[in-house]
Amino acid sequence: MPRTCTFCGAGDITKEHIWPKWSQSYLSEKRPVPHVQQTVQDGRDDEERTWLQRSLDMKVGTVCGSCNNGWMSNLENTVKPFFIGAFEGRGRELHRALQRDLAAWGLKTTMMVEHQQKPARYVIPPSEYAHLYQRREPSLDVLVWMTAYTGIKTSALGHLYGLDADMAIDPDPGRGTRDIWGSTVVFGPVVFHLLGTDIPGLLTDVVMKTPNTHRLWPYKRTSTWTPTPGLNDSELPRFTEGFLEQLLRQGGSGRQRRPMRI
Ligand SMILES: [Zn+2]
Repeated sequence: MPRTCTFCGAGDITKEHIWPKWSQSYLSEKRPVPHVQQTVQDGRDDEERTWLQRSLDMKVGTVCGSCNNGWMSNLENTVKPFFIGAFEGRGRELHRALQRDLAAWGLKTTMMVEHQQKPARYVIPPSEYAHLYQRREPSLDVLVWMTAYTGIKTSALGHLYGLDADMAIDPDPGRGTRDIWGSTVVFGPVVFHLLGTDIPGLLTDVVMKTPNTHRLWPYKRTSTWTPTPGLNDSELPRFTEGFLEQLLRQGGSGRQRRPMRI
């Protein structure tokens, strides 16, 4: 079957680096690092796929030339000065427009990481792809935070997970979307965390209390990101687990319309 662009449906698929090529002159990467995608559901075995690859070499063939060289390239160029400053050890005030663009970049990168998987293993709903393409920003079903990474193990990394909420039904494991999805994206000293669901109210009370952690989307207030303090190599996995624990607690509170047992 001929492949078509994930965003616009055009047929001229191009191969693109997941992590921008210019970053190779800033980020050294001596050895392959493990990459993980997992899906989790209560009462069933976790599915997990792990592979070793040099992150900065990763390419994915899922978008067309006009998306690649058009809006996606524009988005890269908009956030590039922030990343270069971060790679050179500088912090920056994050005003509203920059927060929006960084959140969009985190989502776009998460989507490219997702497309290293088979479609049956996708976790992000197609509507979120359509929203990013049409509006150049995440939908209000997505929360995005940013913090810092001071570890040494990775230069660029995307972790994705997906959860199913309602155990009363037995969803098709190959349906290619999950009720709740999330990702952690590390790019040099910058860490994004994304959390998405269309379950009403589930994201309302999710907060992240780690130091130097800024909520980018939906916009709340201007803040200043700095390269330190940041998560080290043992704290980074716990950052993701912290979100999962909050969701578990909220799921047990009975405030959601749909029962949630993860
Ligand atoms: Zn396209």
